[in-house]
Amino acid sequence: MTHAACTDAPPTDSLHQRLKDVFGYDTFRLHQEEIIRHVVGGGDAFVLMPTGGGKSLCYQLPSLMRPGTAIVISPLIALMKDQVDALRHNGVAAACLNSSIPDEEARQTVADMRCGRLDLLYVAPERLVMDGFLNMLDSADIALFAIDEAHCISQWGHQFRPEYTQLSLIKRRFPGVPVLALTATADDATRKDIVAQLGIGGAPAFISSFDRPNIRYSAEYKQSAPRQLLAFLEAHRGESGIVYALSRRRVEEVAKALDEAGFSASAYHAGMPSERRTKVHNEFLGDRVDIVVATIAFGMGIDKPDVRFVVHYDMPKSIEGYYQETGRAGRDGLPAFGHLLWNMQDVVQAGRFIDEIADGEQRRVEAHKLNVMLGFADSMSCRRRALLGYFGEVLADDCGNCDVCDNPPETYDATIDAQKALSAVYRLGGRYGAGYVIDVLRGSGNERIAANGHDGLSVFGIGAELSKDAWSALVRQLVHRGYLLQDISDYSTLKLLDPAWPVLRGQESLTLAKPPAPRPKAERAAKPKSKAAMRLGPLGTELFEHLRALRRSLAGEENVPAYAVFSDATLVDMVERLPHSEHEMLSVNGVGQAKLERYGELFLDAIVEWEQKSA
Ligand code: ADP
Ligand code: ZN
Repeated sequence: MTHAACTDAPPTDSLHQRLKDVFGYDTFRLHQEEIIRHVVGGGDAFVLMPTGGGKSLCYQLPSLMRPGTAIVISPLIALMKDQVDALRHNGVAAACLNSSIPDEEARQTVADMRCGRLDLLYVAPERLVMDGFLNMLDSADIALFAIDEAHCISQWGHQFRPEYTQLSLIKRRFPGVPVLALTATADDATRKDIVAQLGIGGAPAFISSFDRPNIRYSAEYKQSAPRQLLAFLEAHRGESGIVYALSRRRVEEVAKALDEAGFSASAYHAGMPSERRTKVHNEFLGDRVDIVVATIAFGMGIDKPDVRFVVHYDMPKSIEGYYQETGRAGRDGLPAFGHLLWNMQDVVQAGRFIDEIADGEQRRVEAHKLNVMLGFADSMSCRRRALLGYFGEVLADDCGNCDVCDNPPETYDATIDAQKALSAVYRLGGRYGAGYVIDVLRGSGNERIAANGHDGLSVFGIGAELSKDAWSALVRQLVHRGYLLQDISDYSTLKLLDPAWPVLRGQESLTLAKPPAPRPKAERAAKPKSKAAMRLGPLGTELFEHLRALRRSLAGEENVPAYAVFSDATLVDMVERLPHSEHEMLSVNGVGQAKLERYGELFLDAIVEWEQKSA
């Protein structure tokens, strides 16, 4: 049960050498080095790293440094093939066993393993616990067990898989073999459960920050969602990204609109035939389609490191979901974007679903989660602080990489404006929604107002000096801060809450964010530059695209995901270093020996060809 000390851990040089030779990387990330040294030395470990943090390397590298085969337990058959492809491209002997593998190939894999020719073997948990398989393992040399997505073992976690609970037999049956449990999602209860169930209670926990500093979070209030989406995507043409929408119908509509606007986009949702879904998935991985517009059915299994943006076209129901979905962007560590489009209608709609939940406790929890999500969307302070705060992590400073940090809202003494809005709600008896209240404040010629005689109210027209947008921003803040209730159980009508009274009576003043002034046309038209363009300049971006095209065609020929050839991060580094020899090519981050042999010449030629063309 105890883990061996790292006495026989390898010298640092040989670790770094392997990192460079095989994976082509110069440095370790987060706790990778500590973990790897610990496991190579024979220790068990619990690893908590955010998505994209680089968990795989924590067992892949040790599998090369320890005698025998590493057994990787992974719940996603679809992912195994991609991982194995990527490893083989790095010259690592990897294979997988699952229901989709033909018998002949499976027999070969077992034979390879028996004679010590296999570094890594990926299996599904169902397979691992089969008697025949366990007997085979008894007579084989095992380097380590890695349990990926380890939270699936716990009923506390949100993706419990019953077949995972049987994995507790590993430590009993193979007490001397290191066990590595890896996950990206684990609160304290889940974490304790994982190590207890796996019988590795004494193992150290390596916990990395949840922060994803390369993702820029931003949110925009939806006025005209299609236009806003196009404006965002315009700055990201040619990049890989995901647009999440709430319903299948919406997914189809958005995909169509993007297609008409000349984007390479495909729809993906659970209502489509599975062949079609697989096709879209593969085209996305192969860079043959840039944007997938999807419901959250497009989730587990998107292991594409160079997703540059994730847009939410509708507000997700919880921060957990939102964080997991945006986490699919920028796994390669390069700049990436998480952009949220939302409005009060989204909140109202989500609220309706919650109202239908029969169980009172669950309803309360869901309503709370939705409220926290709303708080994030409507945040007037650093979004990363809000996000990490939700996961119990405190940032020392504002992040400097979110829309609020870039453009902090100006605040002003909003007492008088708030009083106007609150009195209008009061005068209207709490029976009207925000749009109507604002029309009354602005003295609109709305017929319904006249018919109801509300044009005779003292509050009619007292807010004519502010725009609709300004009023709705103010009303949102009042809702958000608990002065007004937007009653989702009653047609979203606005109602006064108790804290409104001291404000109305002038006993309390209120500081709120100034509503954003309407942007001048010129600025609206100015197009933000894409990240590649920002980092590489126009010429560099051209070369980058040239190399990407080569990558796409190679990946297509070999039928592997594009990143199995080279990641975006590697291509960017290639553009910056402009290698002209094999030796220089090897210095590029992500180019190891195997890839140098396989692709080095092709990419060196492509660089020269491009240089001649643009000279
Ligand atoms: P996770 O499983 O934690 O979500 P992965 O293991 O898939 O993350 O790694 C995410 C990406 O980061 C992959 O493209 C991987 O090749 C890359 N990566 C991992 N470790 C390093 C490193 N030390 N240097 C550079 N890139 C790395
Ligand atoms: Zn910030």
